[in-house]
Amino acid sequence: MFIKKIFVIIIIFSSITLFAKSQDLKTQLIGNNSKLPTVAIITTGGTISEVNDPKTGSSIPGSLDNTIKSMQDILSLANIKLIEFSNIDSSQMTPAIWANLSKVVDNTLEDRNIIGAVITHGTDTMAEVAYFLDLTLKTKKPVVLTGAMRNSSNPYSDGPLNLRSAVIQVISNPPKNWGVTVSLNQYINAAREVVKTNTTNPQTFESGPKGYLGYIFEKNIYPINLVLYHNKFPIPKKFPKVFIYQDYAGATSQVLKFMADQTPDAIVVEGLGAGNVNSEVFEGIKYAIDKNIIVAITSTVPHGGIFPIYGDVGGGDSLKKAGVIFSVFLRADKTRLLLLLAIAKEGKNKEKLSNYLQNP
Ligand code: ASP
Repeated sequence: MFIKKIFVIIIIFSSITLFAKSQDLKTQLIGNNSKLPTVAIITTGGTISEVNDPKTGSSIPGSLDNTIKSMQDILSLANIKLIEFSNIDSSQMTPAIWANLSKVVDNTLEDRNIIGAVITHGTDTMAEVAYFLDLTLKTKKPVVLTGAMRNSSNPYSDGPLNLRSAVIQVISNPPKNWGVTVSLNQYINAAREVVKTNTTNPQTFESGPKGYLGYIFEKNIYPINLVLYHNKFPIPKKFPKVFIYQDYAGATSQVLKFMADQTPDAIVVEGLGAGNVNSEVFEGIKYAIDKNIIVAITSTVPHGGIFPIYGDVGGGDSLKKAGVIFSVFLRADKTRLLLLLAIAKEGKNKEKLSNYLQNP
């Protein structure tokens, strides 16, 4: 009897939770042509959803509804399931919100009729969310992040073309091993490589030496590269605490020691050149390691990787000997994301963490 009661309570509770989740998100179907595929557009905010405030002229949250409804050429290619996840600037995003987004994307794409998802998001942290989703999504369907550098009050806004191109990408059956992509200004970037390079220009996302995955032109995609390997992690119940410290010439150990005193699980040090710091910062790093904090080194220099070459105090070789792990090709922000998921899964197992950082 008691067990039966518990069982009934669990069922009621889980249906309430499910109900609450689906009720929380505003959803609408735009277009209802049974001959066309359906693409989910999940909106989170950012410039693409913004308009100018008539009083102040500054960019404030608006809506994408009208933009989508006016794009007749998109609606002749696909039905759109529009899901409003949030409407915030991407500087306000957190790993906890992205974890929720990852679940919403996977749930949405469980629907057999939906062939893939376009997520609209602010560009400031788009490279980070893309990598987070790439590491955590279970779906094999295409997931494309897009946004805009000019809001919809601007007659030359890049939002509509970016949105259209992203839908084209989803319905063009892109290579499965592309994973999550960032697609703006017709260029398709891999989540792991992509970086925002320009604060105001529509051609802002680039992929460094690995290059773009592809190009979108009119109604087709043109693949250029393939991404062959993706790490996958479960979404943790609780994220570990990981800080980023940025180094510079003349830095002291003060900031690092302050960070270490907040007892994070890890500190990512964005060091100089091929992965070096000065002797004072080295002291700060040793202070953190003595407190059982994982220290990972990356570089402020965008390309070329980091290697334990230099033997002076704070040089890469001395960092390695002190127990610092090397994030060879990942930038500091993505190293942090990878550590958030990897520490949650493996604990502070240095060997395993180091392995992930060398094969991100
Ligand atoms: N501040 C905006 C954001 O990241 C910039 C953009 O969307 O392009 O949300």
